[in-house]
Amino acid sequence: MRPRLLFPLFAPVTTLPGVGPRLAKLFERLAGPRVVDLLWHMPVGLIDRRYAPKLRDAKEGAVATVTVWVDGHEPPRSPRLPYRVRCRDETGFINLVFFHARPEYLQKALPVGEQRVVSGRLERFRDQLQITHPDHIGPISELEQLRGIEPVYPLTTGLTLKVVGKAVRVALERAPELPEWIDAALLSRAGWQSWRTALTAAHNPDSEAAVEPSSLPRQRLAYDELFANQLAVALVRAHQRRLAGRPIAGDGRLRKKVVDALPFKLTASQNDAVKDIVADMARDARMLRLLQGDVGSGKTLVAFLGMLNAVEAGAQGAFMAPTEILARQHFNTIEPLARAGGVHVALLTGRDKGKARQGILDSLADGAIDIVIGTHALVQEDVAFRDLAIAVVDEQHRFGVHQRLLLASKGRAIDMLVMTATPIPRTLMLAAYGDMDVSRLSEKPAGRHPIDTRTIPLDRIEEVVAALRRVLEKDAKVYWVCPLVEESEAVDLAAASQRQAELSAIFPGKTGLVHGRMKGSEKDAVMEAFAHGPLQILVATTVIEVGVDVPDASVIVIEHAERFGLAQLHQLRGRVGRGEKPSTCLLLYATPLGATAKSRLAIMRETEDGFRIAEEDFRLRGPGEMLGTRQSGMPDFRLADLAVHRELLATARDDARLALERDPDLRGPRSEALRTLLYLMERDAAVKYLRSG
Ligand code: ADP
Ligand code: MG
Repeated sequence: MRPRLLFPLFAPVTTLPGVGPRLAKLFERLAGPRVVDLLWHMPVGLIDRRYAPKLRDAKEGAVATVTVWVDGHEPPRSPRLPYRVRCRDETGFINLVFFHARPEYLQKALPVGEQRVVSGRLERFRDQLQITHPDHIGPISELEQLRGIEPVYPLTTGLTLKVVGKAVRVALERAPELPEWIDAALLSRAGWQSWRTALTAAHNPDSEAAVEPSSLPRQRLAYDELFANQLAVALVRAHQRRLAGRPIAGDGRLRKKVVDALPFKLTASQNDAVKDIVADMARDARMLRLLQGDVGSGKTLVAFLGMLNAVEAGAQGAFMAPTEILARQHFNTIEPLARAGGVHVALLTGRDKGKARQGILDSLADGAIDIVIGTHALVQEDVAFRDLAIAVVDEQHRFGVHQRLLLASKGRAIDMLVMTATPIPRTLMLAAYGDMDVSRLSEKPAGRHPIDTRTIPLDRIEEVVAALRRVLEKDAKVYWVCPLVEESEAVDLAAASQRQAELSAIFPGKTGLVHGRMKGSEKDAVMEAFAHGPLQILVATTVIEVGVDVPDASVIVIEHAERFGLAQLHQLRGRVGRGEKPSTCLLLYATPLGATAKSRLAIMRETEDGFRIAEEDFRLRGPGEMLGTRQSGMPDFRLADLAVHRELLATARDDARLALERDPDLRGPRSEALRTLLYLMERDAAVKYLRSG
C-alpha cells in the first residue's frame, strides 16, 4: 500500500484549485495526469522580473515589472489595429498593447484610475514606451510576488507559462515533508537539502545555473530517482537469488557432437559465454544472465549450447524470439545442428494451428521435443513442458517482463538467459539490471570482412542507383532501408512503397518490399525470394533491424540515415558483412546536416565496434534518444539524466546495496523512508519482493 503521506501527490491534477477537466487534459499531455507529474516537470529557464524601474529610466529591451496608474483605454478603430491602454507613473508614460483583445477582460484587469503591477518586455514604438501583451497584470498587492524570478517550463499548445507556473506552485504546496531516505553522511557530504526543500528550490531557480540538472537541488532529486531505481533492481535481484534453483549439469556429450560437426571453430568469447552459462546452471540457484553480442557475433549458437546442457541432463529448453521471421531463422540455424546430435527441435509460432499445433504441444508435454523455438506463442496457456529447465529470450527488450515471467512459469526453477544485440553502455546496464550477470561476445567470427561504410548526401541518390546497377549485375543482394518518417507506421510504409515502386521501375522483377504490417506468411515469402529466389533488392522499413540473416547480402543502403539512432544504424549495418563477399553500407543523409548528426555519421564510418558506437551515441545524445527508452525496456528517468548524473548512479548502487545488506527486508529504522521513496518514485512493484522473500 502506498503511504498515506503520498496520497495528495498521486491524486489527479483536478484536485488542484482552478484545474478543471479541460486544463487537466492539457496537463496530462504536458506532464502527466497526477499532481506528482507536475512536481517532476522541471523548469528549463527563468525570466528575471526583478528589474522595476521608474518609467523615465526604463530601458527598452529589458523585462521589467512596473507599477502604474491606468489612465484610459483606446479600443482599436479597425480589428487589425491593437487595443491600447495608456498608463503612467509619476515620471512618465507607457502604453500596454493588445492585439485581438477582449475588451471586457481588459476593462476588468486594468480599470481606469487604479494602480496596477505590470510585467513584460519593454519596447519603444514611435518614441513611446510600451509593453505588448504583458506576461502579468496584477493588483499592487502582488508586486512582491510578480517582481521575482519566474521559472520557465516546457509548454504545450493551449497552456501558457502563467497557468503552468501557477499549477506547479499549488502542487508544491501539496508536497509534504518526507522522512529522509538518503544516508546522513552522503547528504552532508553532497551538500543536499531535504527532499521538500530541494524540490521547492528546483522550481524556484535564482540563477541560470540553478536551472541546470547539475545544480544541487536537481542533483538531489536525480539521486532520489536513481536510488529508488537501484533499490528496486537490488530487491528484485535479491529475490531472484533467494528463489530455489536446481543444479543442471549435462555431461557434455551432445555439446561435443554439435561443436565437432560445426564447419567453424567457436570464438574465444563464445567459449567463455558457454562456460559462464554451464557454470550458472550447475549452481543451486537460478541463472539470470544477459548474453550481449553484436549482430552476427554468434549468440544463437551459444544459446543453443546452453539449451543442450539441459537436454543432456534430461530436461528441455525453450527459445523465444520477438518475431516470426527471427524465430524461423533461429530454427533454421539450430535445427540442422541439433539433428547432428539426435536432438529434437520444434518451431512453434502463431501460425501453427489445429492438429499440427496440437502435435507439437503433445510432444512438448511428453518430452519427445527437447528444444522448442518460437514466438510469444510459447507463452500461451495450453503450452506445457515435461521438464523445462532453461528459457532463452532473444532481444528481450522487445518483450515485457510479464512475458518473460510467463515463460519462466512453464518450467521448474528455471534458468534464464536473455540475449540482446543492443550494445548497452555500462551506465545504462547498471540502471536497467543492477549487477545482472553478463557475458559479452566481443569478437566477430573469423573470416568476416570489414564493411566499407560511406556517407552520401541524398541528392546524389542517382549515383547510388547507378552503382547498384553495376553490383546487381554481379548477383549482389541489396537491402534498401527506408526511414522512420514519423512515429507513424502508415507514413513509413508510404515512403517505403514509393521507393520500391521507383526501384522496380528501374530494376523490374528484382525488387521486393517487407514492412511491419505484412502478415507473417507474406513476409516470409518475400524474405525467401530475397534469400534464395529472384529478388535482389529488398526494400524494407526497419523490420529488418533485428537479426535477419541473409549471408549473401553485401550492400545496405539506408535512406535518411541521420534520422536513425546510432545503435539502430549499427544493427542495420550488421545485416551485411556476414558472408564471403566484401560488403558496403551507404548512409544517405539529407542536407544540411547538424553538428551532432555529422559526428554520428562519422562514428559509423570510423568503427564497427558496437560497444564503442553505443558509448559515443550515449555521449552525443543521451540515453533516452539512443535507445528510445520506452521500447528498449530501459528505465524511463524523469529527474535523472544519465549523461549528467552517471556518477550518482554508482553511488546509488552502492548505497542501495549497503542498505539492503544491513536490512534485507526493510524492517529497520530507515525502512519507512526507503519504502516511501520506492512509492514516490513508483518503483513499488519491487516492494512485493519484500514480503514474498
Ligand atoms: P547473432 O544471433 O549474434 O546475430 P548468429 O548466431 O545468428 O548471430 O550468427 C550469425 C552467423 O554466424 C550464423 O550463420 C552462425 O552459424 C555463424 N557463426 C556463429 N558462430 C560462428 C563462428 N564462431 N565462426 C563462424 N561463423 C559463426
Ligand atoms: Mg541452476
